[in-house]
Amino acid sequence: MAGLQQLTVLSGGMGGARFLQGLRHGIAAGRLPGVAADAEVTVIANTADDLWLHGLKVCPDLDTVMYTLGDGIDTDRGWGRRDETWSVKEELAAYAVEPTWFGLGDRDVATHLVRTQMLDAGYPLSAITEALCRRWQPGVRLLPMTDDRVETHVAVPDAESTSGRRVVHFQEYWVKLRAEVPAEAVVVVGLDEATPGPGVIDAITDADLVLLPPSNPVVSVGTILGVPRVREALVATTAPVVGVSPIIGGSHVRGMANQLLATIGVDVTAGAVGRHYGARSQGGVLDGWLVDESDADQLPGLHEAGLAAAAVPLYMTDPDATAAMAAAAVELVS
Ligand code: GDP
Ligand code: CA
Repeated sequence: MAGLQQLTVLSGGMGGARFLQGLRHGIAAGRLPGVAADAEVTVIANTADDLWLHGLKVCPDLDTVMYTLGDGIDTDRGWGRRDETWSVKEELAAYAVEPTWFGLGDRDVATHLVRTQMLDAGYPLSAITEALCRRWQPGVRLLPMTDDRVETHVAVPDAESTSGRRVVHFQEYWVKLRAEVPAEAVVVVGLDEATPGPGVIDAITDADLVLLPPSNPVVSVGTILGVPRVREALVATTAPVVGVSPIIGGSHVRGMANQLLATIGVDVTAGAVGRHYGARSQGGVLDGWLVDESDADQLPGLHEAGLAAAAVPLYMTDPDATAAMAAAAVELVS
């Protein structure tokens, strides 16, 4: 056998992008057992973080994946363009135009201008993403989970409102409020009516292996799984499905995933997140789940839940370490 040819990854932004970087590195170096050196990677990216800002369509997770794999990312921040300047943002603030909290860089604005112009001309987000990727050459096929408008909103406490709460866009919760107030509910507007983007269902059905990177289980992978027919495709695919825990030792590594897990009633442990996704043999979406070596005590509970599971180092410190994680994920289900 020539080895596994088609790998499909369900990705959010930073965690997903870093994992993809290591996965690509591992494939090129021939370090993934049973995976062909010319294997193709398809990425189904979360678009529920997308927002309209000053008349521009901004797609944070698509752009993080595209910039990271296209070597345009600011590696220190983990989002946005390298060598960025902020004149547009400063000028908008000087006009006192809201919102002022979003990191809209000058170089980044060009991406949003191209995208918005193409949307105005009638192109779907999937075609626009393909066009943007012609410049960035991310080395993967990057598919938005849907071409439809889907937005994650978060209910937060608000003493001044009669209901005692107010609802903000996920980006406002994450970036402006720094996820420091309790999220009382997560509502993904438009998700139930969304249609999977072109190629999304086939990418799962025709895959040789499906990977869930250590992306946020609620607002990244959770929203992708909520697109109608995506969960069913995962349940039905002949490909093994294996995931990597974004939680290590009871905490997210980077980011702010803790708060939102609590909101959906899932404990902040690697084991609880694996069981939340669940084993395909028991109505879930996974065959295997990797936890960090420090979380080895979670393995018996995962095995009991019907999952193949192993404990290996899960810090994505560099592409080599991340490639080793990807290799362990492949090994778990081969
Ligand atoms: P976002 O859309 O930018 O928030 O990115 P993702 O949803 O793709 O991933 C965010 C998650 O990545 C965070 O909540 C962390 O739990 C996880 N993460 C970040 N760095 C690491 C790491 O080095 N190892 C692991 N296992 N998880 C990580
Ligand atoms: Ca995101």
